[in-house]
Amino acid sequence: MRLSDPIPRSYYVDSAGRPAGSDREPLRGDYETDVAVVGGGIAGCSAALHLAKRGYRVALVEARQIGYGASGRSGGQTIFGLATSQQALVAQVGRDDARLLFDLSVEGLDLLQSLIREHHIDCDYRPNHVHVAVKPRHVRELAAWERELREDYRYDSVSLLDRDQLRAHVASDRYVAGLLDTRSGHLHPLKYTRGLSAAAESHGARIFENTRVLRYTTGSHPQVHGEHGVLRCKHVIFCGSAYLGSVAPTIARRILGVGTYIVATEPLAPERARKLLPSDAAIADMNWILDYFRLSADRRLLFGGRVSYSAVEPRRLAASMRSRLLQVFPSLNDVAVERAWGGYLDITMSRAPNFGRLADNIYYLQGFSGHGLVLTALGGKLVAEAVAGTAERFDVFTRIPHRDFPGGALMRRPALVLAMLYYRLRDLL
Ligand SMILES: Cc1cc2nc3c(=O)[nH]c(=O)nc-3n(C[C@H](O)[C@H](O)[C@H](O)COP(=O)(O)OP(=O)(O)OC[C@H]3O[C@@H](n4cnc5c(N)ncnc54)[C@H](O)[C@@H]3O)c2cc1C
Repeated sequence: MRLSDPIPRSYYVDSAGRPAGSDREPLRGDYETDVAVVGGGIAGCSAALHLAKRGYRVALVEARQIGYGASGRSGGQTIFGLATSQQALVAQVGRDDARLLFDLSVEGLDLLQSLIREHHIDCDYRPNHVHVAVKPRHVRELAAWERELREDYRYDSVSLLDRDQLRAHVASDRYVAGLLDTRSGHLHPLKYTRGLSAAAESHGARIFENTRVLRYTTGSHPQVHGEHGVLRCKHVIFCGSAYLGSVAPTIARRILGVGTYIVATEPLAPERARKLLPSDAAIADMNWILDYFRLSADRRLLFGGRVSYSAVEPRRLAASMRSRLLQVFPSLNDVAVERAWGGYLDITMSRAPNFGRLADNIYYLQGFSGHGLVLTALGGKLVAEAVAGTAERFDVFTRIPHRDFPGGALMRRPALVLAMLYYRLRDLL
């Protein structure tokens, strides 16, 4: 994964229009600010927005363009909770913090809605999301999950669907049950990310694009160095995710970039689209290497799935994704795939997000593990609170323990190959 890789021709890029602020300059010379934010995904844009709203001088530097990373490429599914299970969180941080983390994820859903409303972000938001069961084991897991959500977490917007009820949301014989959540949903992630960046600018944040941060210095007045300029600041927030690499090696060791892929079909006729996904819900299956899909605003099927641990795009990506898609909807045999693209998930060993500090005034947000659309904006808000002196909520996340991926740069990928093999085998059971 290289920051020099071209911007993929995705459905999102095609449909988002000309980027707001497409005349943004790179950083040149010295620039003084209170807070430097590195990375223009949702996390960085949200941090910049929330700090600017609080009256801080903020400068955000993005190596390419706003939304270049996962935020502008994702499946667009806005879902409660974290990538890891609540039981795993309880084991790691105890019942009270696990509860706080869950509640914060739900606050993230509300925050997303309020950001869209407040800043008039036109990003095709639609409510409803269904986790679907592929096999009997998943049905038992969904039933236990619904009980846990309702009883332990008082999260009551979920309902269990049997096979017949599920047909009101997804017309596929592949699925045997589902868990509907009416508070989760889906949106156009690139429009959303750009909308946040424009909102940050409207509150006074300065955004520099095409500016790769190469290194930084610490101390009471840290500096963030790009190729042709320097930000002199009081606080730094790293939101570079899987791309940050050698700029901050201590935190880079905690995450691994895993490739994942999406295809967009040609637009479907309205009646045909409605038959496949009658409630316009987003769908994700219960496998570890999952299929996830939804309709775009112009009724394309956006279908995501598979992973690649080799950091190389699989050959014949569109064809292989199409065959997965046809396992779900065989009737789409005559429908063309028009776009195929990939992006990198920043997974942690435990799949819990990794927030923290490299020094008192140097923060980071990373490790969303494929479940970051909601938590990134929330993370941006919490890190803004921390910079402003109220770190209690940010620190609920920093208390989650994290381990480096074993084996250093050479052994990390082989370790992941083994892990993927394990999960692929598990998905077969
Ligand atoms: C294909 C795909 C599908 C996904 N689907 C979903 C989904 O349906 N639902 C969900 O919740 N999550 C999903 N995710 C995960 C979600 O997209 C991410 O968790 C989230 O977008 C991460 O946002 P971020 O701001 O942390 O990082 P990113 O969006 O990756 O942004 C990081 C930015 O930092 C910049 N950067 C890095 N290093 C530097 C540097 N040295 N100097 C300057 N800039 C730098 C990069 O250019 C990049 O723009 C998906 C991810 C992918 C790849």
